[in-house]
Amino acid sequence: MAPRKLAAGNWKMNGDLAALSQIDAIVAGRETGCDVLICPPAVLLHPMVARIGGGDLLVGGQDCHHAGSGAHTGDIAAAQLADAGASHVILGHSERRADHGETDADVAAKARAAHDAGLIAIICVGETEAERDAGTTLDVIAAQLQGSIPDCATSANTVIAYEPVWAIGTGRTPDNAQIAEVHAMIRDALSATLPDVSLLYGGSVKAANATEIFAIDNVDGALVGGASLKAADFLPIVSALAAS
Ligand code: PEP
Repeated sequence: MAPRKLAAGNWKMNGDLAALSQIDAIVAGRETGCDVLICPPAVLLHPMVARIGGGDLLVGGQDCHHAGSGAHTGDIAAAQLADAGASHVILGHSERRADHGETDADVAAKARAAHDAGLIAIICVGETEAERDAGTTLDVIAAQLQGSIPDCATSANTVIAYEPVWAIGTGRTPDNAQIAEVHAMIRDALSATLPDVSLLYGGSVKAANATEIFAIDNVDGALVGGASLKAADFLPIVSALAAS
C-alpha cells in the first residue's frame, strides 16, 4: 500500500461562518488524486460538515483531550470531534506544544484517545531554529517520534507532519535537501511499525513552492496554515499534490 497523499489545511484560530464560502470554492475547484482536509476552529466543524454535504472534502479538529469525557472545561473529546463529522485531528502542533506546554507524552495520550474514537491522528514534529543551528535536528525529531506515537498507531490511523518550528508562518522553508533528509529519517525510523504512513511537510507551503516540495522523496502531502484560508491560495497546492 502506498502512503495516501493528503493536502491538509489548518485554519488555526481564524475564520467565521462567513469564511465557509471558501469551502464551497474548495469543494467546487478541487482535483481528485489526493485527499483534502480542512481543520477549522472547533465551532466551525459542524457548520462546515453541513456545508460540504456530500462533497468529497474531509474535516478535522486541531486538538483533542486525552480523556473520553468529563470535567475538563474548555476542552474537546476526540469522540465529540468524530460526532461533529471530523475524520482527523491535528496533535502536537508546535503552537500547542509552545502555548500549552504539551509534551510528547501528552501528544501520545491524545493520539490514543483519537484512535479510540476512530479518528486519524496527524502527529506533528519539528525542530526549533536553535536546534537546527546546533545540529540536533535529527535527534530532536527522533525523540519526538519515539515519545509522541502511541503503540496503537498504524499506517491507517496516523499521519506524521514534519513542521520545522522556524518555518511556520514565517515565509521561510528548509531547502529541499534538508526536507529530504528529515523525511528519509522519519520513513526509516517508522519502517517497521508504520511502513505506509503518510508523511506531510508543513511550514510556509504555498502555490509557488508546492510542486517543488511534493517532488521530494517521502513527501506525501502538506500541512498548510496561512495558505489554506483562501480557496484561491489552497487549490493550487491541492492541484500540485494531485499532479505529483
Ligand atoms: C502550520 O501551522 O501548520 C503551518 C504550516 O503554517 P504555515 O503554512 O502558515 O506556515
